[in-house]
Amino acid sequence: MLKTSENTLDPDDWPSFRQQGHQMLDDMFDYLEQLREQPVWQGLSPAQREIFQQPLSNEPSDLAEVHETFMKSILPYAVGNTHPGFMGWVHGGGTPVGMLADMLAAGLNANVGGRDQAPIELEKQLLQWIKGLFSFPETASGLFVTGTSMANLISVLIARTACLKKSIRKEGLVNSGLQLVAYTSASAHISIAQAMDIAGIGSDALRMIATNDNYQMDVEALALAIRADKKAGLIPFFIAATVGTVDVGAIDPLSAIADLAQLEKVWLHVDGAYGALAILAPDLAPRLQGIERADSIAFDFHKWGQVPYDAGFILVRNGEHQLDTFATPAAYLSRASKGLSAGSPWPCDLGPELSRGFRALKTWFTIKVYGPEKLGQVIFATCVLAQYLKQRIELSPQLELLAPVELNIVCFRYRCENPNRINADIVIALQESGIVAPSSTTLQGQLAIRAAIVNHRTTISDIDALIAATLAFGEIIETTLKLSASHLKRDSLA
Ligand SMILES: *Cc1c(COP(=O)(O)O)cnc(C)c1O
Repeated sequence: MLKTSENTLDPDDWPSFRQQGHQMLDDMFDYLEQLREQPVWQGLSPAQREIFQQPLSNEPSDLAEVHETFMKSILPYAVGNTHPGFMGWVHGGGTPVGMLADMLAAGLNANVGGRDQAPIELEKQLLQWIKGLFSFPETASGLFVTGTSMANLISVLIARTACLKKSIRKEGLVNSGLQLVAYTSASAHISIAQAMDIAGIGSDALRMIATNDNYQMDVEALALAIRADKKAGLIPFFIAATVGTVDVGAIDPLSAIADLAQLEKVWLHVDGAYGALAILAPDLAPRLQGIERADSIAFDFHKWGQVPYDAGFILVRNGEHQLDTFATPAAYLSRASKGLSAGSPWPCDLGPELSRGFRALKTWFTIKVYGPEKLGQVIFATCVLAQYLKQRIELSPQLELLAPVELNIVCFRYRCENPNRINADIVIALQESGIVAPSSTTLQGQLAIRAAIVNHRTTISDIDALIAATLAFGEIIETTLKLSASHLKRDSLA
């Protein structure tokens, strides 16, 4: 009798496969241990891009050879968010523990859509912990998803079902003759508008409420908008407040918004993509007061939580609404009280996906190995670094701050003539230098250098490097621009 299938994809020489596997693991440990010696980011040359344009070959390749291509042509040319100098957008840094856990998850190859298995018990345990963190009731439900974009979409769909009853899933919005409207602030993430679009309600039905000087939603304006819409016969069904806006890190006034949502009987959702986990830091948690009153919270473990991509979460106060929105009967998904088909409801009853990877495992490992207190300290430390950066900016006459620093995001610019053009060039020069990598944003027409400090590896020396390089590039770019302008003038006079 054959012990292995002729067609198996498992190695026939396990000892040498094992050796190669250990080598690959060591290479990743080396990479993580020596991050600081590498540039944050470097662009691909045309030759390096060409590697990815080769046609598909029928010939198998050696694992070692494919891994060598990874080491030479992929690893050095990623975005760089593992690096301490990375400050662009809001990207988490990942951890070696998360990496190992993801390897275990891939080896187990669990499909966590349903059925009776320990990985689902683990997800349920995480849900219990998360309910505790946000003081949510026992009746709450939740689901791991790719990220907050998906979690925001799920929350819009659940709020829609809660507002219009389950039959809307069958009949469709067009046949209801009702016009739903939603509200968020002008500083909200684009995924809220996208959720309205994908849900078939339309992004025009999303009111972008004005913000105050601190980039927080103006609750007066929100109240007026809801009243005006009700008067016009529309149906307000969803308010999305933000904890940690993507531009500047502002926190909307949650308690006041929760009061209004309660009064007007509108679903309150909190987009806490990166900011919600501030609940882990005792010095920051009080600023999130009111979040415990939300009907749903969307957040990511892959940002401030440092879990490797991807790991987002949707938490819903009343689990019935989540089931009502997504559970569907199908014979091949029928449930039993015993055997593999036990354990209903399953995760696939709580969201649009059936097959799901075991992203909860790397989250569980991260929380267990580091402990929630340490993760809270890491989060708080990035805010302390942001305050340090703010002070350095205030002490540098050539620099100016462009927004309040509420959490870990600092928006500033180099003072000069033609600041939008020069600061855009400074951001590119910083990224191309490999020293630090901030990104840019536009605040009231002013282009800002935006440093989002998310990575647990970032230190004061990286902030100092950002300041020094910004000043140096600012001066070079400004001088070059002036010189070329005076050349142009001379040429046109000649
Ligand atoms: C990052 C972010 C999102 C999107 O989350 P993804 O995980 O990238 O899908 C949504 N809202 C806010 C405020 C964010 O910062």
